[in-house]
Amino acid sequence: MKFLSLMLALSVSLLLHSQGTEKTYLLKVAKLYDSEKNSFLKNQEILVKGKKIEKVGTNLTKPEGAEVINLQSCTVTPGLIDAHTHVLTIQKMTDPLETDLFVNGDMERTLRAVGICKSFLEAGFTTIRDLGNSGQFLDLNLKRAIGNGWMIGPRMVVSGPILSPEDGQFFNLASHNRFVIDKEYRVIKNVEDARQAVKDHISKGADVIKVVMGDGRITLPLEEVKMIVETAHSFGIKVTAHATYDAVIDRALEAGVDGIEHGYGIADSLLDKMARKKIYLVPTIGDYDAYIRLFADNERKITPDELNGLRSYVAAGETIVKKAIEKGVMVVNGSDMYLFNKIPQGQAAKNTLDTYFEACNNPADVLKTATKNAAIACGVDGFTGVIKENMTADIVAFEGDLEKDFKKTLYKVKFVMKEGQIYVR
Ligand SMILES: [Zn+2]
Repeated sequence: MKFLSLMLALSVSLLLHSQGTEKTYLLKVAKLYDSEKNSFLKNQEILVKGKKIEKVGTNLTKPEGAEVINLQSCTVTPGLIDAHTHVLTIQKMTDPLETDLFVNGDMERTLRAVGICKSFLEAGFTTIRDLGNSGQFLDLNLKRAIGNGWMIGPRMVVSGPILSPEDGQFFNLASHNRFVIDKEYRVIKNVEDARQAVKDHISKGADVIKVVMGDGRITLPLEEVKMIVETAHSFGIKVTAHATYDAVIDRALEAGVDGIEHGYGIADSLLDKMARKKIYLVPTIGDYDAYIRLFADNERKITPDELNGLRSYVAAGETIVKKAIEKGVMVVNGSDMYLFNKIPQGQAAKNTLDTYFEACNNPADVLKTATKNAAIACGVDGFTGVIKENMTADIVAFEGDLEKDFKKTLYKVKFVMKEGQIYVR
């Protein structure tokens, strides 16, 4: 009984405490990107109370005690979303993907990810969807650590280990080293195993199921992918497929996945199919200058042949982004930035948006891929991805005019708020 009254007293005082510390801000902004109208609105005000956006409009009344934040030289957008990250892996361009796993233990990968997560938030990403190569559920541990306030980072939507065919994504391993595949992937053995893998992942806390269709000699058969999708959907969980060439893209679409990651060189007919079936595309393509910098950062000389190859690779990627938008496919921002950079990873991740801009030359369309569209793909559109009443206060301000000077302004982050808390100002 004593304990019960103590608990009651504690909860009352906690309630008073949280009410007392609930901050109110009135943000005055020059330009606001409205991700639902897909347009820019001038001279807006945003009233934030606690974790939520209370009101958006012009000439709002300033509540007593509210702090006014002057963003009148800025463009404001919903907190950005990167729907394809791997914060627990770094690959040097001179090494195969699995090197990180051989060199670094779970602790080192996690501690390194602490800095990477912070860099994403500071670059303006308030949500990331981390799609595997994260050991055995280290992504889930990070998500919890951020949620508990033990470290600073974006909200995380996590997949846990990628469901994959026998190779995972580690090719050419010596047979005595193949054990590492099971340290990083969940290899699917057959249809029943596919069902069990999805159930295990969901029970452990995966928010999304990521499946690698296969880039090696072995690919996942249709029946297994169908079972993955059917099981995940029965629990209300989305499935997104790493698919890098038409045969496996088509198979993933037939199986009923919610999204395609990469989709390099995807055929027009498949884009049409995606538009019809309302399946999103995450074109993880970087921009040419960024790739050149990556080669330099990785002390990797580039041959003239590679340079030409790179040029056509980027151009092909841009064409696909342009076509996908024109055909009405929902394009979603995803950087897939896990390569070693000398600049912070969060900042490096933005070069994907540069590429989308080169492709469509429309700042609103590009921002939509990283806000509303990405929120839908990540299953967080019920509370973020748009700045409007009752949404979570995930807000970013860029110094300058994103509509007029997209590529430069994108890197000038002046203010970051996640769930009503300010991280950059
Ligand atoms: Zn990836």
